[in-house]
Amino acid sequence: MTAEIISVGTELLLGEITNTNSQYLAEQLAHLGIAHYYQNVVGDNKERIAQVIDIAINRGARILIFTGGLGPTPDDLTTAAIAEYFQTPLVENQEILANISQKFAERSLPMSNNNCKQALLPEGAQILPNPKGTAPGIIWHVRSNLLLLTFPGVPYEMMAMWQQTAIPYLKKLGWGKQVIHSKMLRFLGIGESTLAAKIAPFFELKEPTVAPYVSKGEVRLRISAKASSEKRANELIEPVAEQIKAIAGLDYYGCDEDTISSVVGNLLLQSKQTISIAESCTGGALGELITSTAGSSLYFQGGFITYANQCKINLLGVNPKTIEEYGAVSKQVALEMAKGAVEKTNSDWAISITGIAGPSGGKSSKPVGLVYIGIANQREILKSFEYKFGSNKDRQTIRQLSASGALDQLRRLLIEQKRP
Ligand code: ATP
Ligand code: MG
Repeated sequence: MTAEIISVGTELLLGEITNTNSQYLAEQLAHLGIAHYYQNVVGDNKERIAQVIDIAINRGARILIFTGGLGPTPDDLTTAAIAEYFQTPLVENQEILANISQKFAERSLPMSNNNCKQALLPEGAQILPNPKGTAPGIIWHVRSNLLLLTFPGVPYEMMAMWQQTAIPYLKKLGWGKQVIHSKMLRFLGIGESTLAAKIAPFFELKEPTVAPYVSKGEVRLRISAKASSEKRANELIEPVAEQIKAIAGLDYYGCDEDTISSVVGNLLLQSKQTISIAESCTGGALGELITSTAGSSLYFQGGFITYANQCKINLLGVNPKTIEEYGAVSKQVALEMAKGAVEKTNSDWAISITGIAGPSGGKSSKPVGLVYIGIANQREILKSFEYKFGSNKDRQTIRQLSASGALDQLRRLLIEQKRP
């Protein structure tokens, strides 16, 4: 039993509004475990709406969910297009008419003839009440294996109608007895293809399924299962998640809503340790990332944005000779920056970043995207890490990757430290 969403509205095609309705409905269908393989966006045009209905039915859709085009204006044609496609007459529904006139009377507004249009339903269709607006939708069993639901375009009206009427209705029909539940595993410091090669057999699984995603230097794996309840789905998901985590080792950093910032924050909280930072090319991005986690004041002491060499020397005590000899973008300067931050703030840990974010300033020995990260603690640890993000990356991306890479290195050290 598969469903298709048909979003109607020329403004969607023009890119004037974002199709949040279909995002919402897609998520809802997944929750109900109703299979959903295609989404459609079509303009306010009867012929093209008919074509989309035809395509959807022919590729096996048994529930068609429309949003938009139920209003009173001439460009609102969804109901008329549906009736025409199924060659069914539109009949005026007295209940809707009374309802609409009451809503107008309550607001002391005159009702126009156009509004009467909203009382027209294809013969045989039922009303899908709209508690938040004037235009109701329809619930129409065109035939035993084809159900149509229509909703207005206005998101809060559509959502109220979906929750109050559509969900109970679909459940009563026996759809939505299953849920699709998923868990997102998050990885840093490993490329998509490397991770994919390590866990290749898992992509063949049918229940749960495993699918990779990549963004902002982070690889994610979504493990999804369809089952009678979220609990049952989790029972299918968890063993697979555990096996993948074991294979990925330290490259796995968290799941679902975790971020690298929240994960490092938790590790610091657990070990009751504090951190400070010294940033050059990221210009505050690392501080922003750390403090994006609520409660970061419990472990984040503060930081230095030392862009100019003189600032690195004056604020962090970097030796001018080190800069002269190795350059500001070097492992040696990164280490001195981190050491300086630990000493100045007396925090348990410090992370430093120095690099070339571009687009200019690179040379063959030190290209754009070359970044050094330094990590120091109060005792024995003083480490540096070299990243080559590539000169094809834009400035913003390099800064972002540097900040998350820096936190990822600290995460690895904190975990290693915890090990007996
Ligand atoms: P109305 O009675 O308000 O005319 P309608 O059912 O005719 O409702 P539309 O005219 O298509 O719906 O859209 C009304 C408004 O709802 C749009 O201006 C837009 O702001 C919003 N909207 C429409 N479709 C979507 C969508 N797919 N996602 C998000 N918002 C939408
Ligand atoms: Mg409209």
